[in-house]
Amino acid sequence: MLVEFAKNTPKPEIDEVVELLDAAGCRVRSMHCYGHPVLRAVSGHINGQMRELQSNSFVERIIEASTPWELVSRDYHPNDTVVHVGDVRIGDPEQGLMMIAGPCSVESEEQILSAARTVKAHGAKILRGGAFKPRTSPYSFQGLEEQGLALLRKAGDEVGLPIVTEVLDSSDVDMVASYADMLQVGSRNMQNFKLLKAVGRSGKPVMLKRGMSAQLSEFLLSAEYILSEGNSEVVLCERGIRTFADYTRNMLDLNIVPLIRQTSHLPVIVDPSHGSGDRSLIEPLCMAGLSVGAQGVMVEVHPDPERSWSDGDQTIDAESFAGLMHKLQNFAGWLHAESLSTSTS
Ligand code: PEP
Ligand code: MN
Repeated sequence: MLVEFAKNTPKPEIDEVVELLDAAGCRVRSMHCYGHPVLRAVSGHINGQMRELQSNSFVERIIEASTPWELVSRDYHPNDTVVHVGDVRIGDPEQGLMMIAGPCSVESEEQILSAARTVKAHGAKILRGGAFKPRTSPYSFQGLEEQGLALLRKAGDEVGLPIVTEVLDSSDVDMVASYADMLQVGSRNMQNFKLLKAVGRSGKPVMLKRGMSAQLSEFLLSAEYILSEGNSEVVLCERGIRTFADYTRNMLDLNIVPLIRQTSHLPVIVDPSHGSGDRSLIEPLCMAGLSVGAQGVMVEVHPDPERSWSDGDQTIDAESFAGLMHKLQNFAGWLHAESLSTSTS
């Protein structure tokens, strides 16, 4: 059960309700969500105290969530959440095509600036680029680390795009947050609970990528970690799962997109680059993702993909990105117009 208080409820008033719930044998956790103090109470027998709770003038809502991801669920927040990254609003259908693009890794000033100019020129809204890279082999390029963050920041500022980049370790969160507009938690870290708590306290919007073998419930409970630390600016990213299929690196799981939209208010995007590992599949998978309700897409773009230091096979060049954006802008416009006409007919 969640007990939501009015914003600015004085602490003694909240403490009084904590005592009431304690006395009823509940385990109580105190949180903040959307600026409201929230108490989560489990177990206990509060039947007798319900009337007192309901008549407390500071208590705005008492919510029985039907899922274990209580703050992430639509029971708690029926409307779609809009996540703010600089001036960009992820999850707002009026924003048009929400494209996040850039290279897998930041490699040099020249490379990231060239990628930034390309993605900006063709309408991307956020620039991506990894400076801390989670690589399968210890001998692969591990990222330029803080120097890469500085180059990404410079490129984003130069072209006027906010930046998203991965943070691999909880001890780096403050440092990465000092450069980035949005923090990415990668697939391999989806259940790094210390990192989830740290980004939850960072004050920055978070892109949470789905673990490559994570169930829907595990994905949403990982997001719940971030929200329960007071940060409701979370975007979920479907980035492909492991299956028996050996013809692609991963399988972009389209099923999960509408299922998340049904159960959660958080925005969902898809990443067809990691979701397939094959640049020839990016365009159809972007269209497929948007068709099943994704509120944005993330694509890897590099001035010379064949020479990319990571993930070259799934990366497109400037010309392909221009063509992709032309198609997707039209397609996203059509989808939006269609959804407006079906919601009003
Ligand atoms: C990435 O987006 O750069 C990345 C490493 O993705 P994932 O965590 O999904 O593998
Ligand atoms: Mn990559």
